[in-house]
Parts: sequence; structure tokens; C-alpha cells
Amino acid sequence: MFDVAVIGLGAMGSASLAALARAGLKVIGLEQFHSPHQRGSSHGDTRVIRETYFEDPAYVPLLQEAYRLWDALQQRHPEQKLWRLTGGLMLGPADGHLIQGCLRSAQQWSLPHQQLCAADIQARFKAFALPDNITGIYEPRAGLLHPEACIQAFLDDASAAGAHIRMHSPLLNWEPLARGGFCLQSPTGLIEARKVVWSTGAWLPQWQPTLPLQVTRQLLFWFSLPDSKPFQPEHFPIFLLEYQPEKYLYGFPDTGLGFKVAIHVPGRPLSSPDILQAAAAEAEELGEISQLVQQWFPQVSGPPAQSQVCMYTNTPDHHFILDRPPHSPDMLVVSPCSGHGFKFSSVIGELVLREIQDQDPGLDLSLFRLQRFQKC
Ligand SMILES: Cc1cc2nc3c(=O)[nH]c(=O)nc-3n(C[C@H](O)[C@H](O)[C@H](O)COP(=O)(O)OP(=O)(O)OC[C@H]3O[C@@H](n4cnc5c(N)ncnc54)[C@H](O)[C@@H]3O)c2cc1C
Repeated sequence: MFDVAVIGLGAMGSASLAALARAGLKVIGLEQFHSPHQRGSSHGDTRVIRETYFEDPAYVPLLQEAYRLWDALQQRHPEQKLWRLTGGLMLGPADGHLIQGCLRSAQQWSLPHQQLCAADIQARFKAFALPDNITGIYEPRAGLLHPEACIQAFLDDASAAGAHIRMHSPLLNWEPLARGGFCLQSPTGLIEARKVVWSTGAWLPQWQPTLPLQVTRQLLFWFSLPDSKPFQPEHFPIFLLEYQPEKYLYGFPDTGLGFKVAIHVPGRPLSSPDILQAAAAEAEELGEISQLVQQWFPQVSGPPAQSQVCMYTNTPDHHFILDRPPHSPDMLVVSPCSGHGFKFSSVIGELVLREIQDQDPGLDLSLFRLQRFQKC
């Protein structure tokens, strides 16, 4: 009997497995593919990490713990490039959702930041072309994470601490045991575990159909650069731009693959996560992103050189779920992160450990509890 089985070894599952194993628990992780892979929500070379969190200031203490844990992970894996702080620019109209939300978080938690006008930004960061009505908040602690390398580092930590890891082992079925715990069925045999962590990402609705979740298809694009110097990490921070009310373009410096950008609003609903690979970018979508990039970065022209598809698992309020499903005290749901969860995966792993051990989480998790959906 394992203490805990973790189902799905993407971002949240690999971080959880590592935290549980490092604490000395007897754990097993099941993954349907070979993680890290490109068929879920955690691929595409880079993810933003930022601190002046416009979504809600309540995320800031979690972020600060997440930063500490990313730093510790990097120190345990000096041979891997897991993250890089490039600074971050949050851009939009002064009264917009993004700028107002960032200021709220920065002021409430006294976070280092600078308010800049369009002319200041263009003088400092040459690649941007901004109209005068755009204002910016520069935060020095923002940057990027390399998700595939981070997941591999978590899996290496888990393995070194004695976790059993089974790749190409989808969970097929499960049932509760009369004496407590669960029997889990996978092609590699039956497994018994006292507790189960559900970190199946976009596949979660299949296992927890009563949760109010919607899986959407999201696109990532890379553009070739005629002159990459202004887009190098020393000259170009990660950015998030509210180009229309509550519509965001975000992007990264060139880390060797070109200029990467994406749109951060839920995309088209997907009837099944298994059809992702057949849902490549269409001509209209390539045209939309090319036009946006040309408008805000005039040095970049033409269609994207490359694109990828990925998935968001969205809740109605776009906050996460970290909770036990109703009437299932020995199960924990951790995946649905509405397209902004990767930066938190380090701290979510530690929170899973505290929840599994029935410890005080030490952080306010009320934003992530299922009870909030009953109130709606
Ligand atoms: C395009 C895009 C851009 C994003 N940008 C950012 C960003 O800049 N910053 C940020 O913080 N966040 C970002 N996010 C969000 C973040 O990447 C996700 O919240 C996070 O990676 C999701 O992790 P996960 O563990 O829930 O899902 P995944 O990493 O997809 O893991 C789920 C795993 O479960 C496995 N699985 C499913 N079913 C089974 C089964 N039956 N048996 C065994 N295994 C199973 C899957 O194969 C998969 O490996 C972005 C997401 C996308 C899609």
C-alpha cells in the first residue's frame, strides 16, 4: 500500500510527487505519456513568472513562496537552466484591468515596481512601439521559467527520494477499498494507495465530471527576427499587454528559438484533450497574431515561423482548485489553473504535501476551495 498515488506527472503532479517523496512518504506517480511531453498544458519552452499579480493580490504570498522554492530547485539542479529573471513590463491603459490590478498587488504587498510612460518604455526597451495612452509597470522580479526542464528536475528529485515513477501508465479505473484507501488500475498492474492526488490537467473533467471546468485550446507562436539584439533577455523583459479590455498579448525575450508570443484569453473549447494534436493553428489565427505583433513590434513582420497548441483547464472565476472533492477526504484535486498556474507549481507541490499530512497550509487558500462554486 502506497501512502499516496499521484495521477498525472505534468507540472502539478511532478512537483507534488517530489515534495511528497522528499518528505519521506511512500509514493507512486502514474503518467499516461512520457513526461515532460507536448500533449498537455506544460510545453513550449517558456512560462512567465511575475509578482505584481493583477488577477488578485491574494496570490502574492503564494508567489513569494514559489520564488523561494524555484530558487531552491535551481540550486539543487545547477546543471539545468530552469529559470531566468528578465524583469517584466505590464502594459495597458492606466485605468485598465491589468494596470489597476498590478498596482493593487504592488501597493498591498509593497512590491518593487516602477510606473513608466510610453516614451520612457520606448527609450529603455527599443523593440516596443507604444501609443501615448499606454502606460507601463516595470517589475524587476518577473522573468521566465523553462517548463520542460522544471518538470524533469521535479521528477529527478522525486526519483532520487525513492518515488516510484511509471511512465506510459494511464490510470484506467479506480475504486475505494472497504478497509480505506483506493485500488487503482493501470496497464502495468493494480496499485493500492491510501490517498490520491489528481493532477491530470486537461483530463481532469473525465475523472471529476461534477467540477465546473472547461478545457480550451491555446496557441503559442514564434516569430523569426531580422535583428534579434533588441529582443535579447538583457534588452527585453517578459511583457503582458492589455491590447483590448481584458484581452492580453504576452511574450518573451528571444531564448534562442525566436520571439515567442501568445494571447491570454481562453480559446476555443475542446471536446476532448486527446484531439489536441489535430487542432493546429488556422490561417485566420495566424493572420490575427501577425497583425498584433506587427502593430506593437514593427520590426517583426510576416507570419509566425512556428506554432504549437496547448490547453488551459478553466474554472468559471479563473482561480485555481486545490481541494478535496465532496465526500472524498482522501483525494486532492490540484490541476485546474486557468492558464496561469505554472509559476505556482513549485509551491503547489509543497501545499499538496501539507494537505496530505493534514497540516495547516500556512497560506490563505480560500480562493482555491470548491465551496466558492456553491455560493455562485
Ligand atoms: C499556452 C499556455 C501558456 C501558458 N502560459 C503560462 C505562463 O506564462 N505562466 C504560468 O504561470 N502559467 C502558464 N500557463 C498555465 C500552466 O502552464 C498550466 O497551468 C500548468 O502547466 C498545468 O499543469 P498541470 O500539471 O495541471 O497539467 P499538465 O502539465 O498537462 O499535466 C497533466 C498530466 O496528467 C497526465 N494524465 C492525464 N490523464 C492521465 C491518466 N488517466 N493517467 C495518467 N496520467 C494522466 C497528462 O498526460 C499530463 O502529463 C500556460 C498554459 C498554456 C496552455
